[in-house]
Amino acid sequence: MIYFRPHSLDEFIGQKRIKDELSVYISSVKKRNDIFPHTFFIGAPGLGKTTLARIIAYELKRDLKITSGPVLDKTGTLAAVLTNLKEGNILFIDEIHRMPKPCQEILYTAMEDFALDIVIGKGNAGKTIRLNLPKFTLIGATNKPNLCLAPLRDRFQLIFKLNYYKDEELRDIIVKVSKSWGLEIEKDLAFKLAKASKGIPRQALNLVRRLREFVLLNSKTKDQKLLKVSSQVFEDFLKLLDIDEWGLTPEDRRCLLTLYKEFKGGPVGVTALALSADITPEEFETIYEPALIRMGLIARTKRGRILTQKGYLYLKEKFNLPYKE
Ligand code: ATP
Repeated sequence: MIYFRPHSLDEFIGQKRIKDELSVYISSVKKRNDIFPHTFFIGAPGLGKTTLARIIAYELKRDLKITSGPVLDKTGTLAAVLTNLKEGNILFIDEIHRMPKPCQEILYTAMEDFALDIVIGKGNAGKTIRLNLPKFTLIGATNKPNLCLAPLRDRFQLIFKLNYYKDEELRDIIVKVSKSWGLEIEKDLAFKLAKASKGIPRQALNLVRRLREFVLLNSKTKDQKLLKVSSQVFEDFLKLLDIDEWGLTPEDRRCLLTLYKEFKGGPVGVTALALSADITPEEFETIYEPALIRMGLIARTKRGRILTQKGYLYLKEKFNLPYKE
């Protein structure tokens, strides 16, 4: 599999406010040769949380240890990770909300006091030994901050919420990634791909990966350094993936059609809608729903999700389905 990983803040497209702030902290930590503050990244999968953690480590020339909440499921496992850290190391914990409560408790003492309290023995004979830890930085990432204990959340000095990307930003990512993977794509074609990327760089990269395979397969001149994506091949690619002129994929259309046909345009709860459309509720909430809402095709109400006027218009245009009276 081919990868694309920005190594510096300059190479990272979008999330301007976060980049500006991080750049200030990185410079000042570099100047004082200090420890980077504990940082919390909140955002849906694929928005670039791990990438930003890598960039912080790279720019500061610090070692980065990557792990995740589900791996740190026992206090002993967490203690082993913490005691293996060295001064200045950055520990990145993805899906930090999935750590069990006792592990989260250990972590927030470690963040604040750089110490680990270990209980030896049980009952009256038990005693607590304090182990000092080297000064380290914790970077936590999650899309469910509410599932983290409040004292853990409070121990992060920097908290950043990553937004879904604008189509123009994804277009620029697509042009850049394509180039690094040997594809030359015009901006207007990249924009069409961006529209189908749901505001998420990982989705955009996945589409470019598939486009590259398709172009390689359909190209006669394989020895060229940079393969140009022709309009014709691009249109054939969109057809193959069944991406329409609105940028909607078969999954998007399934969500809209299910809402229309099975729930009379709503309101309907997320879980019922997602499962009926054959999509996991998690994916629906982090990938499809935010994009459909941003496009104004569905809306969130107190009683559930509904099709909007524009949603009905789309279904009429596409499938000749009548408006709801
Ligand atoms: P998860 O929570 O699932 O681990 P994540 O938020 O950590 O996701 P990343 O793994 O950092 O997301 O990013 C997914 C992919 O998208 C990576 O290949 C990364 O290089 C790329 N990417 C993310 N953000 C950007 C960006 N702003 N510019 C260019 N590429 C990006």
